Amino acid sequence: MNIKSYVAANPSFKSQVENALLFAEKNLAGLKRSSGRTYYQHALGVAENLAELNFDPLAVISGILHDILEDTKIEKENIQKQFGNEIANIVEGVTKIKKFTSILSDNDRHGENIRKLIIATAKDIRVIFVKLADRLDNLMDLKYLPRDRIIRMANETLDIYAPIAHRLGVYTLKAKLEDYAFMNLEPELFKELSVKINEREAEQQETLNNIVRILRKNLEPLNVYLRISARPKNIYSISRKMKKQNKPFEEIQDILGIRIITDTVESCYSILSKLNDIFQPVTGSFTDYIAHPKPNMYRSIHTTVKIPENHIIEIQIRTEEMHRIASYGIAAHWKYKESSKAGGNKSRDFDEKISWLASIIEWQGSSSSKEFIAGLKTELEFNQVFVFTPEGDIKSLPVGSTPVDFAYKVHTDIGNHCHGAKVNNKMVTLKYNLLNGDTVEILTSKNAHPSQDWLKFVKTPLARTKIKNYDKSKKK
Ligand code: MN
Repeated sequence: MNIKSYVAANPSFKSQVENALLFAEKNLAGLKRSSGRTYYQHALGVAENLAELNFDPLAVISGILHDILEDTKIEKENIQKQFGNEIANIVEGVTKIKKFTSILSDNDRHGENIRKLIIATAKDIRVIFVKLADRLDNLMDLKYLPRDRIIRMANETLDIYAPIAHRLGVYTLKAKLEDYAFMNLEPELFKELSVKINEREAEQQETLNNIVRILRKNLEPLNVYLRISARPKNIYSISRKMKKQNKPFEEIQDILGIRIITDTVESCYSILSKLNDIFQPVTGSFTDYIAHPKPNMYRSIHTTVKIPENHIIEIQIRTEEMHRIASYGIAAHWKYKESSKAGGNKSRDFDEKISWLASIIEWQGSSSSKEFIAGLKTELEFNQVFVFTPEGDIKSLPVGSTPVDFAYKVHTDIGNHCHGAKVNNKMVTLKYNLLNGDTVEILTSKNAHPSQDWLKFVKTPLARTKIKNYDKSKKK
């Protein structure tokens, strides 16, 4: 969505958005990227990606300003004065994530820990969305960079950012990140596949039109609200299927997909029972994510049926609200709820929801809705911190851990001979409480030994045991 239409839809933020545009243009228009686009055009691209996802104006403005701290001499205080605390904090958060990923060693790029570090430090969920929108725009310009940087950025997108988008339930963004990363990694194959997919879609169009006609005819007597659409494609996922099954495109069964969107949960089930009357369901294909939502709140009924002429078709049934969550993630759900609710302390609500969100992400894994609620109550905050070794590997430790815990986590000998620690290149005491994103360096010497005093502040059972055991072995 371009910024003009976004401003038209959010008129109360008109002057703020325009001020941000002027500010960014003044400070970024002179700087050029390898592609020839200016930094200002990139900033605009990021803001438009956010507008497209229908994010709130503060996120869009933060998108306009996201590179200001990194690329100009302007300080956070300046942004704070002109655009307020929230925007300044989001922009600072985005800058921080960039710092983390640049510390990260190549062998830790695939780690689950970096994804958690990003989510845990973001504090405001909009930081993550600005970062994802930033990455998406960068992928458009990637081909102008040296090959090794292209590969690194594309892989980082597939390993870190697309999975984050997936976990937050923003499937449209996830699919775009994957497709553009893939386009940069394997441009020839990408081109070939997009052409073939489009051809196949054209072929299938008639079949799809037919199915939609049959569906309408049969569902109209139910007299419920109805919206029927075909499912969007994800080129990357098809290429992965080809690799996994070791088959050419022609042999990949790309099942036709149809989505039926309606108004209420009851309508979903009456549509389902009608479908079961008219089509033959494929055995074992039915999944009810309405009764059992996915951890990221995805809800929908999935069923696969046989239709005339031997076609197999996957049908998803969901309400408009479920569809909003599936397309734009939980954030869209909140935004919708909030705008339909008068008054209320908006920013506090938002903070609460962020910790709530973090718990959902942290808690991923089980699937019954009962556990879902229990998980929400107990996992409201991350109980881990994520820190870097000087080599850029990530270690996770319980909240409240100290350099001594870190030392033992790296290696028993390092713990046993630890006599000091530096965090982010500054000396700290051994009692120091590690924070997310700290880079920790342990100073060792042959003559240093664990002290019983350490037992007063270490947090991990591992360090505790090693310190106690070391003492015993010395006595013997
Ligand atoms: Mn950027």
